[in-house]
Amino acid sequence: MTIYINRPYCVYLTVYHGNKLPMYYIGSSSILRIENGYRGSITSRRYKNIWQQELKEHPELFKIYIIKPFTERKEATAYENYLQNYFKVIISSMYVNQAVASLNGFHGMDVSGKNNPNYGKRGELSSRYGKKQSKETCLKRTGPKNPSYGKKGVLSPAYGKKYPGKCAGEKNPSFGKVGVLSPNYGSKRTIETRKLQSISLTKYSKSRPQAHNDNISKSLKGNPKLSERMRGENNPMYGKPCTEYNKQMTKLKNSGDNNPMRQAKYQIKCEHCGITIAKNTYTLFHGSKCKQKPKDV
Ligand SMILES: [Zn+2]
Repeated sequence: MTIYINRPYCVYLTVYHGNKLPMYYIGSSSILRIENGYRGSITSRRYKNIWQQELKEHPELFKIYIIKPFTERKEATAYENYLQNYFKVIISSMYVNQAVASLNGFHGMDVSGKNNPNYGKRGELSSRYGKKQSKETCLKRTGPKNPSYGKKGVLSPAYGKKYPGKCAGEKNPSFGKVGVLSPNYGSKRTIETRKLQSISLTKYSKSRPQAHNDNISKSLKGNPKLSERMRGENNPMYGKPCTEYNKQMTKLKNSGDNNPMRQAKYQIKCEHCGITIAKNTYTLFHGSKCKQKPKDV
């Protein structure tokens, strides 16, 4: 796209038209990458697999719109971060985003995991080893002053992250021991044990709040589709007027080549003057209203 020649980076909006994921994803990338078919990469545990599977099986459900081009990578990241915060993407159920773009000064540099200068530096190796926080510093971080205050669930930076313990996965002595390999294979529970187990299960379920039990029963029956859960009054946007910003965004993504009226199915050839134009213009100025239509005799 020649119009973006001096602005190779951009913030984009991916719109997903299926029913397995939220509708929007805001990201930043190079325009070239998008033109080569890039639709955004999802890393959250919640959506990563569904996203990849849907991209593979139904790429036609993903539409991407360049919101704004930029000269510098970091400008794009900054605007990406701004939009993500503006639309509260992390808590909004309309967005696939589970995190906002990081503005920590490492633009474009991978500092995750082993690439981080502090990777593995614990205990004596840590630059903070042996340093005690003063009481004042501690007090500065209590209650609402703590940057993590109130950030529960999806808001928590730890959300969806795995903390493998000493006994997790392959380290667990029971790992992989299913069926014949299981130490319990072939042994039957006595009727008494069964009764006891059933009693304790009932007791446990009765001690839980009813809402919790309802949730469990719901999850056992299978959750309704996202589209069904978002229908009508359950949709977070239900009854809310569209913000000016949203309107502009819709206008933006439907402008130029993205204008739906430019699609072949909305194009009509005028039988009088022969030009091919959008249906709406045709109804207004062509067909029976065409200037080149022969006058009635
Ligand atoms: Zn005409």
